[in-house]
Amino acid sequence: MTAIDWTAKAAALRLDGRAFIDGTRTDTVQSFSKSSPVDGRFLCDVSRGQAVDIDRAVAAARQAFEDGRWRRKSPAARKMILQAFAAKLLAHKEELALLETLDMGKPIRYSQSVDVPSAARCIQWYAEAIDKVYGEIAPTPESALALIEQEPVGVVGVIVPWNYPMIMTAWKIAPALATGNSVVLKPSEKSPLTALRMAELALDAGLPAGVFNVVPGFGPEAGSPLALHMDVDCIAFTGSTKVGKQIHVMAGQSNLKRAWTELGGKSPNIVFADCPDLDRAVDAAVGSIFFNQGESCNAPSRLFVEESIKPLFLEKALARLPSYQPGNPLLPQTVMGALVDNTQLSTVLRYIAQGKADGAALLAGGEQAMAETGGYYVQPTVFDGVRNDMTIAREEIFGPVLAVLGFTDAAEVVRQANQSIYGLQAAVWTRDINKAHGVARALRAGTVHVNQYDEDDITVPFGGFKQSGVGRDKSLHALHKYTETKTTWIRLDSPF
Ligand code: NAD
Repeated sequence: MTAIDWTAKAAALRLDGRAFIDGTRTDTVQSFSKSSPVDGRFLCDVSRGQAVDIDRAVAAARQAFEDGRWRRKSPAARKMILQAFAAKLLAHKEELALLETLDMGKPIRYSQSVDVPSAARCIQWYAEAIDKVYGEIAPTPESALALIEQEPVGVVGVIVPWNYPMIMTAWKIAPALATGNSVVLKPSEKSPLTALRMAELALDAGLPAGVFNVVPGFGPEAGSPLALHMDVDCIAFTGSTKVGKQIHVMAGQSNLKRAWTELGGKSPNIVFADCPDLDRAVDAAVGSIFFNQGESCNAPSRLFVEESIKPLFLEKALARLPSYQPGNPLLPQTVMGALVDNTQLSTVLRYIAQGKADGAALLAGGEQAMAETGGYYVQPTVFDGVRNDMTIAREEIFGPVLAVLGFTDAAEVVRQANQSIYGLQAAVWTRDINKAHGVARALRAGTVHVNQYDEDDITVPFGGFKQSGVGRDKSLHALHKYTETKTTWIRLDSPF
């Protein structure tokens, strides 16, 4: 099989950054120019949505909801359309993967093998769920019947970040569409292109016009009007904890719309000396923090290693770093690509400087890389001697920076692991079942991994405790975010 020349494909790619409202590409009042973090090349002009554009999209979504063109279709018909949508994503895998890589800098090998298939599987999975979820009949006295049903909430506003643009879009729109809602999505201004293309492909697959609208733009200009909109019934947000808090305020300030937030993390990864497979633990610790350039909400960015094995663990970890050196994301062998933009690059470099200033020991990396390309690259970076109260252990860096902390006592490491405003994920490595389960129970996190870090499936909920957000994406649990529970009482007079 001949290897794909992604650079040539990129040059030939059709790019369209215009908003998608009511089933058609449309200009907004303003636009901005989007460049690629791969090498700084200009990609295309992108709609810069304002309140007036959000109004237009919400009106289209409202009209589609009220006239029932989607929600009143039979569950089987909706299922078939969403299945066709998922199939379209897979049929356009190369194009979508390339858009994702050019837009936000992740390696093409992963946008092809992870992002596009995961987004398609998510939509396929919720399509399958549509005609398999039943309502309830309450155990009332014989004189009445009480039906408990889930109805679509109405118009769902969605705001997503740039780190997994397609997957984050799919996690929101799939359960929202499956349950019969209309959607207005604002992608991140840093990665708008795949969501726009997804909306076109959904229309091609048979989703009626107006049901899935996409308005790119900046947070305060397009995101806030969506979160504040009086005709939006639910706002589903993924992004930073700082903005997530504002989303809940905006929901309360406006129409008390349902607000769901998937926010940041600073996940602890605890390796005990009796870890059953040290090499696997090292692979997971290193692979998971450098995957997606460290721009993952659930990255295990705080690594706690029991002191007796820390020297060996670090020796093994450092030996793996050469394979994580950043490279051109368009080359299939590259495993670490570009950070999303210059702002993110500066943020990561600032945290590295802070780590050094606070007295952590820089073991590897710490520098910008490949600056001559015009893109935004950072070396894989490892700090040892980190204390849990240092800035690099407390704040989400969202870059390829691993903070290593030593420990000797199980109760103390659990206390430190939980000493965070976040509670998204955590991991524990030990061959002792009592210790594994006891620590897993004590960790305040939405997901705890035992002796692995990379298991993931659409069938399990994803989300966090504490300031990592409110609600869960994925699994059947997510369906409730986009539905209202309705009870219908029917009086029954006995015919006998
Ligand atoms: P961000 O909060 O800056 O932006 C997220 C989205 O919100 C973007 O679309 C942005 O335009 C919009 N936005 C910004 N200001 C807004 C405002 N005032 N009103 C309305 N919308 C506004 O986050 P980011 O930098 O794009 O993404 C990184 C963050 O996302 C990290 O904190 C990461 O942990 C988090 N994240 C969480 C999950 C999860 O499932 N928990 C998944 C992925 C990313």
